[in-house]
Amino acid sequence: MKYDREKEVEFLIERELKPNGITDERVLAALYKVKREKFITESLRDRAYGNYPLPIGEGQTISQPYIIGLMTQALEIKSSDKILEIGTGSGYQAAILAELSSVVYTVERIETLSLKARTNLYSQGYNNVIIILGDGTAGLSEYAPYDKIMVTAASPGIPDSLMSQLKNGGKMVIPVGSRFVQDLQLVEKALNGRIYKSSLCGCRFVPLIGKEGWDD
Ligand code: SAM
Repeated sequence: MKYDREKEVEFLIERELKPNGITDERVLAALYKVKREKFITESLRDRAYGNYPLPIGEGQTISQPYIIGLMTQALEIKSSDKILEIGTGSGYQAAILAELSSVVYTVERIETLSLKARTNLYSQGYNNVIIILGDGTAGLSEYAPYDKIMVTAASPGIPDSLMSQLKNGGKMVIPVGSRFVQDLQLVEKALNGRIYKSSLCGCRFVPLIGKEGWDD
C-alpha cells in the first residue's frame, strides 16, 4: 500500500495528540510540517507517525511524538527565542524547535549521531540550528543565556550549569529521576531569579551521560 504521510500525521495529531492535551496551534503546525520520516532509517518510514519512540542507532531513540509535543508546548516558545537543546539525537526535536524560534543550539555527545543529525537538518534547510559535539550537561556557556532549555535525556538532577545558563524569565524542561524512570519537570526561572518546578508527567528517557549527569 502507498505511504500516505498526510493521513498518518493527521491521524497522529487528531487522535493521539489533541485528545491528550497537545493543543497549542503553533506546536501542532510544527509537528505537522516537520517530516519525522526524514530523521529515521528508511526501513522504519511507515512507522514514522506512530505514537511511540523509535531507534536511531547507538542504542538511542527518537522520542514519542506525544512527549515531544508536551515538552515543546510547555516551553511556550516565542519566535524571537534562543534555545538550547541537550541531546540532538536524530535532529528531529531540534527541527521542531527551529520552526518555532529564532535559533537553536543543540549538543550531542555521540559523534556519529551528531554527524547524521547535521545531514538530516541541513539537507532540509534548518540553517538556524547550530549543532555541537560535546557533553551537554555543562551546557554551552559561549552563547548563554538561553530563553528556553530542553533536555532530552534523563538526568539524576538539574545540572547547575544549565540552571545558570537559563535566562531570568526563562523555562526549561528536563526528565529527572533514576536511570530507568523519571519525572518530566518544567523549571521556570522568574524575573527575580526565583526557581519554580512542576511535574508534567512520568516518563522514561535514555540516560544523560556526562560530568553533571550519569557516569558512562
Ligand atoms: N532529541 C532527540 C531527537 O529528536 O532525535 C532524541 C534524543 S535521545 C532521547 C537522547 C540523546 O541524548 C541521545 O542521542 C544521547 O546520546 C544524548 N545524550 C546523552 N547524554 C548527553 C550529554 N551529556 N550531552 C549531549 N547529549 C547527550
